[in-house]
Amino acid sequence: MAVSNSSAPHDHDRVVDVWGPRTPHGRDDRWPSRVDVHLDAGVGPADVQKWVRSACVLCSNGCGCDIAVVDGQMVGIRGRADDLVNKGRLGPKGLYGSTPWASSADRLTTPLIRRDGILVPTDWTTAMDRIVAESQRLLRTKGPLSHGFYTSGQLFAEEYYTLAVIGKAGLGTPHMDGNTRLCTATAAAAFKESFGTDGQPGCYSDIEHCDALFLWGHNMAETQTVLWSRVLDRTHGSEPPVLVCVDPRRTPVAVEALRTGGLHLPVRVGTNLALLNGLLRELFENDLVDHDWVDRHTVGVDDLRKLVDDYPVEKVAAICGLEPDAVRRAARIFGERSAVLSTVLQGFYQSHQATAASVAVNNLHLLRGMIGRPGAGVLQMNGQPTAQNNRECGADGDLPGFRNWDNPDHVRELAELWDVDPMVIPHWADPTHAMQIFGYVADGTINLLWVSATNPAVSMPESARIRSILEKDTCFLVVQDLFLTETAQLADVVLPAAGWGEKTGTFTNASRVVHLSEKAVEPPGQAKPDLDIFLSYAAAMDFRSRSGAPLIGWHTAEEAFDAWRAASAGRPVDYTGLTYDKLRDTSGVAWPVNDTHPDGAARLYSDAVFPSAVDVCETFGHDLLTGAAVTEQEYRALAPDGRAMIKGCVYVPAHEQPSEQFPLLFTTGRTVYQFHTRTKTRRSRPLDAAAPRAWVEMNAEDARDLGITEGDVVVVESPRGRIQVPARIGMITRGSVFAPFHYGSSDADVHEPGGRQGQANELTMTVWDPVSKQPAFKTAACRVRRADPVRPAIEATTAGQSGP
Ligand code: SF4
Repeated sequence: MAVSNSSAPHDHDRVVDVWGPRTPHGRDDRWPSRVDVHLDAGVGPADVQKWVRSACVLCSNGCGCDIAVVDGQMVGIRGRADDLVNKGRLGPKGLYGSTPWASSADRLTTPLIRRDGILVPTDWTTAMDRIVAESQRLLRTKGPLSHGFYTSGQLFAEEYYTLAVIGKAGLGTPHMDGNTRLCTATAAAAFKESFGTDGQPGCYSDIEHCDALFLWGHNMAETQTVLWSRVLDRTHGSEPPVLVCVDPRRTPVAVEALRTGGLHLPVRVGTNLALLNGLLRELFENDLVDHDWVDRHTVGVDDLRKLVDDYPVEKVAAICGLEPDAVRRAARIFGERSAVLSTVLQGFYQSHQATAASVAVNNLHLLRGMIGRPGAGVLQMNGQPTAQNNRECGADGDLPGFRNWDNPDHVRELAELWDVDPMVIPHWADPTHAMQIFGYVADGTINLLWVSATNPAVSMPESARIRSILEKDTCFLVVQDLFLTETAQLADVVLPAAGWGEKTGTFTNASRVVHLSEKAVEPPGQAKPDLDIFLSYAAAMDFRSRSGAPLIGWHTAEEAFDAWRAASAGRPVDYTGLTYDKLRDTSGVAWPVNDTHPDGAARLYSDAVFPSAVDVCETFGHDLLTGAAVTEQEYRALAPDGRAMIKGCVYVPAHEQPSEQFPLLFTTGRTVYQFHTRTKTRRSRPLDAAAPRAWVEMNAEDARDLGITEGDVVVVESPRGRIQVPARIGMITRGSVFAPFHYGSSDADVHEPGGRQGQANELTMTVWDPVSKQPAFKTAACRVRRADPVRPAIEATTAGQSGP
């Protein structure tokens, strides 16, 4: 077992060597362990008083780890060698970003309440009394639809489930969503449209078995660094898979694909679906379809064949800005390899036609019968660590347990479980998605908005609009977080939350693997676990069941987990066989865990039976172009009955196209060193030093035409706003401009005249995918010029992989 102890003196090695040393191996071999450790400066292994079991929450990979504790403080982290997900590895964010925020001097330690326009410290009783008084007044005067909840992809399953019961059975509001709408809503939607319910079919160990790996809009090297280490261990071993990278940027994934003889398709921003339709057509044209499997296990293939007939390679290549032969080669790789694995992320999910393009990836796999067996599958990914739980537990608007709000039996099951009238559970219309929740706040119909563990003032599109909504005096804003974020600064009441390592709970990664994260230290001051905050509100509101008992009968994280297990019983996302004790006995278990799968299941759909029957499915589906709902009657006529659904959609151009005034396309994404709006990672010195400020990436020819060189400070403007940041030259296709979305107004180095100089969402648009409702961050028209007066060139970032 290799040990990479990143303590001093080589403390910052993994900022430069992001993926760590290689442990190469051949196809079908087990992925070797390699334990990564980081301890704070001055702390040696012998000083650690206890190691506490957890998993990393700084991306969706969910790497198993132990937290080092000395004198009641978190002082480091160590990967778990036997963990199902990471076999001991941790990336730079996990190593350097997991603990420093916890002891940061600016943690929220008391509730705050707004008095005379100013947030002042108060006690919990006063803060909760204020919230409850407002909540009860609104229920009396306007009813439950006056309440909205906007949560996160970073809480625990127990917290989401508790929040879901409060919202759906206590209050009866459909206005519940999370920032998962920005992150992973399309993954869920694509699964539902193709297979009937949400649920990741594949697993990470498919990387060991595949002979081709397609990364669709997924810069895995920077978003899930440990997963990318897993890929690199294949590409450096014998019988490596061929890599195909679909991304407008020359990311490290693209570089590795080219280095190993694979393919980089630098698709024009906003044209993903055109490419997919072309690839699907090539499979049909060259008879690279598993007809027998398709006939037995799918419906809809004939309609798809007709639809994609209109996408010959030359036409697609012209739309997408690609070489026709490159498109043909990609189709051949997909059509001829024996085990193809796909991963999909924000390049697809945050574009227009997000669900249609992601469903098209599922279609490729279905045409080849490449699902449910080792190495052959699809990983529709998440960005955040616990986004999966929000989808499962129902705090994102869906019903808990992947239930169908159009199925009266599913609603009745929940009503019986919670002992409430089915009519209390909002199922008379689609749940309200995040973009619409903010729209209702703008309209003045939502008058209490409760935001937990997220920072929409920076992360939502079109920042100026979101700020104006959050500032409205018609809405009582509650914010629950670790720090006084840009959003918390606008709140009426701020609640100090305990963070990772300061509370206990479970969460599930993008490959359905569940971990228990145990409390390691006490939270600071009066900060409380989010679960305790939700439970206090429920108790103060005195929510009751039909029999008069308290609606929520649990008081601890483990009791909340047991309640969630009961809600999941009999559903595809079945947790009934999973307990805290079982999670302490092993390091990562993949659901379902029940009598059929007592130790979990690596893959779904190994039997090619899909959860698409009318009485099982989570939705009856949608028209992928318009988002119009398919009725139950139409779904019954389709009769999937356990078969997967092959669905197509025509390509249409993005909402905003380049014009004379705004000739370029603006797109946003991540850097390896930061997570979300930097709430945690900016408080890590190595990570902050590696990427301290925002920048934009430009194509070399575009930059030359505009007289811009590396490091020049440039102004980027869209019809909605502007930013002023240094330019980096290279990495991206002609006509496009990339900016990281992490930076907000709290960043000292963007406190320049005009403020928010690096906040990418000043430029983005209020538009969303018609099916998943995920906002389109990837396509906004923009223009770029050198700052006036010309500013001295400055280094855009200081280290690492996000370079030109
Ligand atoms: S890959 Fe993700 S989960 Fe794993 S250590 Fe890095 S940030 Fe944490």
